[in-house]
Amino acid sequence: MNRKPLILVCNDDGVYSPGIKALANAMSTIGNVHLVAPDIEQSGVGHGITIRRPLRMHPTKLNHLEKNVTAYRVDGTPTDCVVMGVQVLGRPDLVVSGINFGPNLGFDLTHSGTFACAIEGTHLGIPSIAFSLGFSDDMDFTHGASYAAKLAARVIAHGLPRLTVLNVNFPVGKPKGVRVTVQGTHHYEDNVEKRLDPAGQPYYWVGGTPSVDEEPSSDYAAVYSGFVSVTPLLLDFTHRTYLETVREFTPPLEG
Ligand code: MN
Repeated sequence: MNRKPLILVCNDDGVYSPGIKALANAMSTIGNVHLVAPDIEQSGVGHGITIRRPLRMHPTKLNHLEKNVTAYRVDGTPTDCVVMGVQVLGRPDLVVSGINFGPNLGFDLTHSGTFACAIEGTHLGIPSIAFSLGFSDDMDFTHGASYAAKLAARVIAHGLPRLTVLNVNFPVGKPKGVRVTVQGTHHYEDNVEKRLDPAGQPYYWVGGTPSVDEEPSSDYAAVYSGFVSVTPLLLDFTHRTYLETVREFTPPLEG
């Protein structure tokens, strides 16, 4: 392309997260950047959208942003930010999300707002990538951000197939290399802790205990062995090889 690419950067950790700043500045080395993010943290909201009230989008001054990054905050969900960024600010050549504060592996993708941004971009027909970094005390986004810019340049040049989205996870520390992986079975066993408020009324904290994924080709295995994990995912959920079986056992309406 002759003009500089336009890249939309979103997240679910909110506009003030250091992860989105690192990602936006990295993307500014390969294109012009619109940073559009929720005004408060929205981790775990998945692909939710706001349709029962108006949305507001405000230009936002953030410290240490490169000159070709323009930042906005939206009083909505991560997906709202992608919709607003694309429909109001202009259609980008790439949507990236993150870098999330914490990994998004296996079944985390079903509730991840970070991944939801990439789903939305993909549904809008724009190549999209979600980026996340494993938890550590210092949350150093530098290695991830520089690799994100390299991968993003490749994706802008080559595109992605229809309904295909990339989910990328960075390990803690300097990565040993890059592995292309399958989505693992990593998930959380939900647990609910009941407590009592000062009035004696119960309230609940929903949490989860993370599972271990033994599959060696999984996103989980790559990240926990110190590698960058790149997983291609298909947003067509139909289980095609199972269709015939379902046709066989599905009863007719009458008879
Ligand atoms: Mn998050």
